[in-house]
Amino acid sequence: MTRNHKIFLCFLLIPILLSFSPEAEKSIRTIELNNKQYISMYDLTSTFDMQNSFDIITGKGKLFYKGAIAVYQIDLSVMLINNKLIKTHYPAIRKEGEILLPLKFFEKIINEFYPYYTYSEKQSRVYISHKSENKTISSQESVIKKNREYIKEDIPISGTDKISFIIIDPGHGGKDPGAIGKGGIQEKHITIKIAYHLERYLKNKLKKMKIQSTRKSDRFVDLSKRTEIANKMLKKNENGLFISIHVNASILHSISGFETYFLSQNPSNEEARAVAAMENNVIIFEENSGRKKYNDVEHVEAIMLTTQIQKESAGLANYIQKYLQKSIPESISKGVKKADFFVLRDSLMPAVLVEVGYISNTKEVKKLTQANYQKKIACGIGDGIIEFIKEYNKNTKK
Ligand SMILES: [Zn+2]
Repeated sequence: MTRNHKIFLCFLLIPILLSFSPEAEKSIRTIELNNKQYISMYDLTSTFDMQNSFDIITGKGKLFYKGAIAVYQIDLSVMLINNKLIKTHYPAIRKEGEILLPLKFFEKIINEFYPYYTYSEKQSRVYISHKSENKTISSQESVIKKNREYIKEDIPISGTDKISFIIIDPGHGGKDPGAIGKGGIQEKHITIKIAYHLERYLKNKLKKMKIQSTRKSDRFVDLSKRTEIANKMLKKNENGLFISIHVNASILHSISGFETYFLSQNPSNEEARAVAAMENNVIIFEENSGRKKYNDVEHVEAIMLTTQIQKESAGLANYIQKYLQKSIPESISKGVKKADFFVLRDSLMPAVLVEVGYISNTKEVKKLTQANYQKKIACGIGDGIIEFIKEYNKNTKK
């Protein structure tokens, strides 16, 4: 080949390479901060066909791509992609107004949103390329089909991560006394004592378990702050339990007994809600644009978020109620119930609320203020938790 030929070949190749490369591959820079790798949200949405909606006040954000949703929150190491909980070693952050997602989240987003693409890392950049040129055209359809299946799929009760911490939440506190009984007895003083006994009991029985309270003294803690404390403890390969302790009240002073609640946003008609969710889901995938789509997506996303956690919470509630019945047989078991409690609503782990008795019942309030009875309640709740963990961890892989 002559020199001229070589030059000619180079000029011929350049346009071919240029036209091929942007089609076949997309790349995005990684940002390193304190030895941690991030992807900027700005880069993500300008490189890929995704839309981000971020709430500055709550720090919650959502990424949308053809009906697939990824939910993230600043300062949390967990992300929800479709109905899967993804955990990393460090949280998503906000720096100088820019949202930075851990690299691992980005990888999972790509895996879920673009199943026919491969992911690779090279010199401060990640490369996303088509697995096969032919499949890419029909891949959009597959993504849509795949996302549709998430809703119908039956979600297993046992999680993939072992329970490694427990959050005890004594109801009320500080300026919020909770329910007030005869003689001015306040709910917040009873809940903190039971929580104290429960913490001691669990620490004694479960040596390796991390146990934390949302409050140790008589102080006011915001309801959303309580789940935030718990959610921040979620890390890769770790799951937790959230136990909120309360005392009930009724204008009917004869009512007494204990009950355990788990979250349900529409307690009266669960079945109708699931059906509606499924119907809405179909509408989302059929609609191509418009604001309404997002509202529907958000509706379905809220249900997906709670489905698995709700099942686990129901299981936990059953165990606690059963063991409370054993430890305080003198009281009346009012069973496991569903209700929409704000304190449970944002939880990303199994969460229950125990109403240990009635402050409005003269006989019961007397017992509730006695250290012995408080300890018995703590043991009942504690045994329920321990048995639930045994069953839950038995079903996890690791
Ligand atoms: Zn309460």
